[in-house]
Amino acid sequence: MMYVSTRSENGERFSASDAILKGLAPDGGLFIPESVPSIPFDFTLSRGAWYAMYQAMRPYFEGDELEDDLEEICRSAFSFPVPFFHNGGKDTLELIYGPTAAFKDFGARFLAYSMEKLLERRNEDLSILVATSGDTGGAVASAFHGRKHLSVKVLFPEGRVAERQRKQLTCWDGNVESYEVAGSFDDCQKMVKEAFMDSSLSGLSSANSINLGRLLPQMAYYVYASSLYKAIYDREAVFIIPSGNVGNSTGAFWAKAMGAPIKSIVLAVNANRTIPDYLETGEYRPRPSVETLANAMDVGAPSNMERLFSLFRTVEDFRANVTSYSVSDDEIRRTIKEEYEENGHIICPHTACGERVRRDHYSDEDTVVVATAHPAKFDKIVEPVIGHVVPVPGQLYDILQKPSNAKSIGTDYHELFEA
Ligand SMILES: *Cc1c(COP(=O)(O)O)cnc(C)c1O
Repeated sequence: MMYVSTRSENGERFSASDAILKGLAPDGGLFIPESVPSIPFDFTLSRGAWYAMYQAMRPYFEGDELEDDLEEICRSAFSFPVPFFHNGGKDTLELIYGPTAAFKDFGARFLAYSMEKLLERRNEDLSILVATSGDTGGAVASAFHGRKHLSVKVLFPEGRVAERQRKQLTCWDGNVESYEVAGSFDDCQKMVKEAFMDSSLSGLSSANSINLGRLLPQMAYYVYASSLYKAIYDREAVFIIPSGNVGNSTGAFWAKAMGAPIKSIVLAVNANRTIPDYLETGEYRPRPSVETLANAMDVGAPSNMERLFSLFRTVEDFRANVTSYSVSDDEIRRTIKEEYEENGHIICPHTACGERVRRDHYSDEDTVVVATAHPAKFDKIVEPVIGHVVPVPGQLYDILQKPSNAKSIGTDYHELFEA
């Protein structure tokens, strides 16, 4: 299996490993597989989630230098449960039991273990720079902590991340360093860009959500979850996915293209309406993001859209395959309250966007809402709405107990590289 850029029709081809180490294609496009593989004929659910995910990923690494390591990488990276919350056909797929309690753990961990293996072979080291406004930095820091040949510098804006998110960014030691920047998220991103452009610095890389190594696990859990759903209910799943950069949902579309039993895929967005507006008007207009309660979805120019456009090449084709609805902050609060009072089920503000879309548009149909983060990460929003404390899951509790350790710096990127 080889990979090409979304921007070149007959351009250069890359192996999966090269695509993972590069992140972005040389022409600035995103890596996509040259052809869509099928789910292996011997695919089985009998050995659990991680093994099913491994099987779904196998064809993407056929002939790659990681082919023989893939099983071990998947076993290490996907070492936590992927359960359904069943509620009479109004089910929820909970991708929230990784070390930092959000679905980004799957991709970040797979990327970290793959990179470690590749660097070990090449006897090289890489330093990962991440600018974060929330969930990504924590998942990346946790995934890369303790991995050999890799170090991480996480940059976050002072005073702009939630207290528990800050904890997840600053509780590390050893090969993970945190920098609290006296500036905005945009300043953090600018510093990372400047460092990448500085030719006196070498061995820098990123762990962006567009990296193939983060996307493939998101394909794999949809193959697993839809196959399990089919085994339980004997029908195809309708997934409603809380979306921002549409990496999670691109994974679902790739799974469906491989033949996974998925009937349709619905994107729930917050007040950032770029995709619903595109479906309505036929004109694609990326724009600056607006702030909402579901902050990990505050995206006005979704970075994975190029991959969806390479799957669905015309507006008509896009409309035939993609459905999307927008949810307001008031609706997010109301939905968290309703879901708790009716089902005793506590959900995070992102998941609430999916639940609202189910309640408003799919009341007659069985659906699976995808839970993208644990509500305990967003206690300041969720607790006032439901009127009591959200129990903290074990892995999050461990992180909250650790001492914080961050360097305060200004907005000059050179400070990142001072001893
Ligand atoms: C990142 C994130 C999203 C959005 O996922 P995309 O892949 O960017 O669409 C939704 N919910 C949570 C909790 C997230 O961390």
